[in-house]
Amino acid sequence: MFDEPSTKSMPKVAYDETLLSWMTRGVRQGKFLNNHLLARALEDLVLPVQYWRPRGFEIQSPEATLPDMEFEPGENLLKLLSNTYELSKTAINQRFGSNGHWNTSIEYRTLYCRVCFDEALTTTGGVVWKRSWCRATAAYCCLHGVPLSQPLTRPEVIQRLDHVLLHHVRVKYDGYEEHVSRLCRNLTLRVQCWLQDVECNRWGGVHIFGSPYNLIYAILLSRRTVHARGGLATTSFGQKKISCHRSRLSFFQRLTQGICESDAVQRSGALLIVGWLFGRISTSEIEKAAIMEPRLGRLITMSPKTLGREAVVAVNNQEHYSMLELLSYFHNCDHPVFSDFFQGLCSYSFARKSRSYAHRDGNAAV
Ligand SMILES: [Zn+2]
Repeated sequence: MFDEPSTKSMPKVAYDETLLSWMTRGVRQGKFLNNHLLARALEDLVLPVQYWRPRGFEIQSPEATLPDMEFEPGENLLKLLSNTYELSKTAINQRFGSNGHWNTSIEYRTLYCRVCFDEALTTTGGVVWKRSWCRATAAYCCLHGVPLSQPLTRPEVIQRLDHVLLHHVRVKYDGYEEHVSRLCRNLTLRVQCWLQDVECNRWGGVHIFGSPYNLIYAILLSRRTVHARGGLATTSFGQKKISCHRSRLSFFQRLTQGICESDAVQRSGALLIVGWLFGRISTSEIEKAAIMEPRLGRLITMSPKTLGREAVVAVNNQEHYSMLELLSYFHNCDHPVFSDFFQGLCSYSFARKSRSYAHRDGNAAV
């Protein structure tokens, strides 16, 4: 039904389009039956009163985010779509669901592919937002092999499409600047596809971070806060950003925020390291890539064990135990590079723990 040619009653859904994008485009072009009712429902959905806040005032906690109406439409909208078009929740989920993929919070979904964006403007006459851009492990567009772009500032959800369109036109006018080697691009895409395949087909959303492999990726991108240093990939591949959160964040909040606020370059760096750790990228390949990308070179010249220690340098013992519990899946992993890295992850905590026990027992600190 969704893929039928565009009619007066319902716009055709573009390839990989999100529900929010399809509805916004359809309402603006007046393509729906009951267009005014759907416009109202969409407005209520995107900007519920209880979540409204004055511009410039950032949310204090990552949990205080908007409901994810992009993948989970509210009951009102479902009722309206069901009454108008006899669409069931199952039909909507089949066409617009996340399919077990791990997505970033809706407020941070501003990464997009500039080539897809241009194509959609030409073919549909409107802005189309794709589901694959919302994934937490997305750094490149799988169709066009270009790094995902991002506007400089983060807009409100209701203004996202217009905001990104303005940014897109301005950057296009100024000319794209892109210096990515073909090798780094191919390696990143290889790991990105593998991670997304694993989280979708093997774990299916069971793990808190999509899959335990994604947890390693999240650790590398962990959030920089007032109280904690950023993760390896964040600080090595990105520019220093000012934290919008002044409150102390827990380890898991920092992991989530790190993913949400990372750009395509930082994600690409984390993906390359993850690929190397798990043997998806061989040591000779990563060494060749490091020649093209000096920032990667600085990281892989450390031994995997040192890399593991550095990755958890900001966590306390309690957070560390929770993390190791989630990583128990890897206890018997025999890949040599990852084994060394994992040893580094563990040994750092044990060294500090022995120091704290020494203090507690009245002995001098080691
Ligand atoms: Zn694309």
